[in-house]
Amino acid sequence: MMQMIVGNWKMNGLGAASRDLVTEVAQGLAAMPSPPQIVICPPFTLLAQLAPMLKGTGILLGAQDCHQSVSGAHTGDISAAMLADVGVEYVILGHSERRRDHGELDETVREKATAAAAAGLTPIVCVGESEDQRASGECQDAIGWQIKGSLPDGFSGIVAYEPIWAIGSGVPASSQDIADMMAFIRAELVRQFGATGKTIRILYGGSVNARDAATILPIAEVGGALVGSASLRADTFLPIVRAAV
Ligand code: 13P
Repeated sequence: MMQMIVGNWKMNGLGAASRDLVTEVAQGLAAMPSPPQIVICPPFTLLAQLAPMLKGTGILLGAQDCHQSVSGAHTGDISAAMLADVGVEYVILGHSERRRDHGELDETVREKATAAAAAGLTPIVCVGESEDQRASGECQDAIGWQIKGSLPDGFSGIVAYEPIWAIGSGVPASSQDIADMMAFIRAELVRQFGATGKTIRILYGGSVNARDAATILPIAEVGGALVGSASLRADTFLPIVRAAV
């Protein structure tokens, strides 16, 4: 399966600089003989202005959240249909920062994943254990529960494994940790979804950088990377993209 590199810009990016960044990434991609699948997930405010720029570049557009309802009285929220309407094809759901900042629970994430799929979007559902869970040897329990709780029946999106302690730390999880958790997640997906579980793409996220990407991406079951801070500049994002070719 061709690898996928997803850039999660988080709460970063104003218009002019973001248009420049997209132009630079598109140019870098055009110079690659067989680039991987690229998805960029800017904040909501940039989606409509970046969507036309991405046409023909091979870069797909993603968002960072959606509401679980189709429409209605949910001040400040954005529905999956609204995202699809402006050209979004992917949506990150249940990121640990949303679970932390907005109290999102597995059940809500599951409803969001259902809403996203109903609107024709591909959900990228994030799971990951905390530092405490890791310290007390509960990684697999924590991830097992999150997978069970956050993925709806018939799920056919993407799962991102992002250990919370590795996000923003500058140091990704070790190859051994990633390999162990990927094998565990794959087994859980197969247990939950049968044959479909074998085909679900799993991304690794957490301090992916140009140096470590070449080590992380070839690990068994790693279908790509979910990149945070290194996706905010072309000179840090493009080397990761190249490592996936
Ligand atoms: P960093 O790459 O900045 O650690 O962020 C990872 C992440 O949370 C991507 O969703």
